[in-house]
Amino acid sequence: MRILAIESSCDETAAAVIEDGRKMLSNVVDTQIATHALYGGVVPEIASRRHMEAVVRVTEQALADAEMDKHEVDAVAATCAPGLIGALLVGANFGKSLAFAMNKPFIPVHHIRGHIAATYLAYPELKPPFLTLIASGGHSEIVMVKDYTEFEILGGTRDDAAGEAFDKVARVLGVGYPGGPKIDALAQNGDPKRYKLPDSRIKDAPLDFSFSGLKTAVINLAHNAEQKGETLDREGLAASFCTAVVHTLVPRLEEAVHQTHARNVVCAGGVAANSFLRAALCDMAKRTHTRLFLPPLKLCGDNAAMIGAQAYYEYLAGNLGHTLQNAYPTADIGRNICDPA
Ligand code: ATP
Ligand code: MG
Ligand code: FE
Repeated sequence: MRILAIESSCDETAAAVIEDGRKMLSNVVDTQIATHALYGGVVPEIASRRHMEAVVRVTEQALADAEMDKHEVDAVAATCAPGLIGALLVGANFGKSLAFAMNKPFIPVHHIRGHIAATYLAYPELKPPFLTLIASGGHSEIVMVKDYTEFEILGGTRDDAAGEAFDKVARVLGVGYPGGPKIDALAQNGDPKRYKLPDSRIKDAPLDFSFSGLKTAVINLAHNAEQKGETLDREGLAASFCTAVVHTLVPRLEEAVHQTHARNVVCAGGVAANSFLRAALCDMAKRTHTRLFLPPLKLCGDNAAMIGAQAYYEYLAGNLGHTLQNAYPTADIGRNICDPA
């Protein structure tokens, strides 16, 4: 089964053709980063408009790269939640209209389920159940993937997402948007022990975490240095920050491995591209005798290939969209986002 998938939940307009949930026939990503960088973050209105300008071109490119006519696809999928509502509505309505105009099934896909499914494209042998750490721009959670469309949230952030913390710290250090890749690069030559940063624990909730204290500590360090006229060791601070994020995430994931006796562990979302996190997860896998599955770097951030991968399993589960299908800015990963006919 070949699915044309569309993703427009944030600042990437993307389309892909995926065969049977596992094989990538094409994957086109049109990023708006340069536009939003001017404002230091994503401007929702601009994002929606740019999606409208790009969605037809990106979809045609994905079909061309797969050497297919649109009538040869078996179904159309689009991200319908969660994300910026104006941005989601562009891809969701475009995908829905295209599907119904061609008399094909329409498959609404949950964006975070998609991030997890990116891993299926790289590892044909990976099957649920497995434990997942989601670390993205808007989400940080530990999730048990019981089946392809069945999820249990075991823990998560009480405040900021990991990616959000990276982006805010990057702004304070003046390295630009999006912050994650820039902080990661800056940290490569830094001393991770240069600055002592807090490691927050949530009382009686060993699988939950918090990033706001860490973020505030970095902001205070930067402001104090500025007021005193001291120069900040930016490389050292970036390395110390990456290490603190790792110390926040990995011990909780390791605790979840022990609690669930998981054998297979996945890490997904934009922050899964972080070099410090990837290295620490490899160490954790050795310590816990688990097998680690990490999406390739280019599938960690937003793309439509991951949406097409998850769409296949949603289709098999009968999760189809109808003409009244809506988009939703927030939705738990466990929620079925398909609206009734
Ligand atoms: P969500 O998926 O939660 O809806 P999103 O789609 O905006 O949010 P993603 O595309 O999954 O988020 O990931 C983008 C985030 O990943 C940004 O916050 C970015 O800074 C972060 N990121 C990307 N590369 C790295 C890296 N190498 N190190 C740390 N963070 C990174
Ligand atoms: Mg993005
Ligand atoms: Fe995302």
